[in-house]
Amino acid sequence: MPDTAGDTRIRERIEELKRSCAEKDTALKGDLWVSGNGTGALYKAKSAGFCFGVRRAVDTVYEQISSGASPIYTYGPIIHNELVVRDLEEKKVRVINSEDELRNLREGTVIIRSHGVGRKIYSIIEENGLRVIDATCPYVRKIHRIVEERGRNGYEVVIIGSASHPEVEGIRGWAAGEVSVVEDEQDAVSYAPLTGKPLCIVSQTTFNLKKFHKFVEIIGALRYHETAVLNTICNATEERQTEARSIARLADVMFVIGGKHSSNTQKLYEICRKECENTFFVQAFDDLNLRLVPFRGIVGISAGASTPNILIEEVSNQCRKKISERC
Ligand code: SF4
Repeated sequence: MPDTAGDTRIRERIEELKRSCAEKDTALKGDLWVSGNGTGALYKAKSAGFCFGVRRAVDTVYEQISSGASPIYTYGPIIHNELVVRDLEEKKVRVINSEDELRNLREGTVIIRSHGVGRKIYSIIEENGLRVIDATCPYVRKIHRIVEERGRNGYEVVIIGSASHPEVEGIRGWAAGEVSVVEDEQDAVSYAPLTGKPLCIVSQTTFNLKKFHKFVEIIGALRYHETAVLNTICNATEERQTEARSIARLADVMFVIGGKHSSNTQKLYEICRKECENTFFVQAFDDLNLRLVPFRGIVGISAGASTPNILIEEVSNQCRKKISERC
């Protein structure tokens, strides 16, 4: 059958996407697959799913299971993903939900998740004769060291982030000396120094960069004689959002895989929806509606930070199969 004008246009768009993927400074670093007749394509974002720190922590738990360690505990859920949590439960990995629970434990291996914990938790583990496997993300560990050192050197520490987030609680637990948490603009405006010491400002790794700069500016206006500002934001989230935005701009249909209750997946969905009105959530494999795959065109796939690879692969494979049937 000869090409219609629509076929020609979509081939051109796919060629353009190929060129964008091949550019040196592109945000599009994922896998591009094109159907046999060139009128259908699937782009799977490289940054979809677990970031480096979460992957490392999840792999650590599975390594411990394979090594035969028992009983195994994680201090807090290793990840907010039902598939993984259920699988780990079946493999008898238990979650410790509080410091009190930890205090009552007398044997086993305790795995610290990527968010990290304060110094006190390590002490309890040691006092109780438990084995510790530390899967704190190295980027978070770096912040622990900063606040510990600066505190020792006479700095007052300010953490910009969400006070109730486990990562921030952990960072707080390493600060030697006075420490405050600034969560929002109001906190920044009303921030009052606890001492006359110099100030060290750090950030929760997943905090919004623009807000971080804004709050630093507000606090900076208090005119400290010395302020050390350390931008400790991890770029995994930003890279994921930039790549998702770039592909959503070019896609006809965009699938965002992950839990609707996960704030980073929700944010990803909003970013993609702004660029591509045919953006859909896929929470679990049963949610994938293959009728949404277009008869010709580009399908984009991205996923939140706690989405397991097995789900991303399954959705991608099914979409590729559907595109092959149609294009
Ligand atoms: S710091 Fe970055 S890489 Fe590490 S767990 Fe957090 S988001 Fe992931």
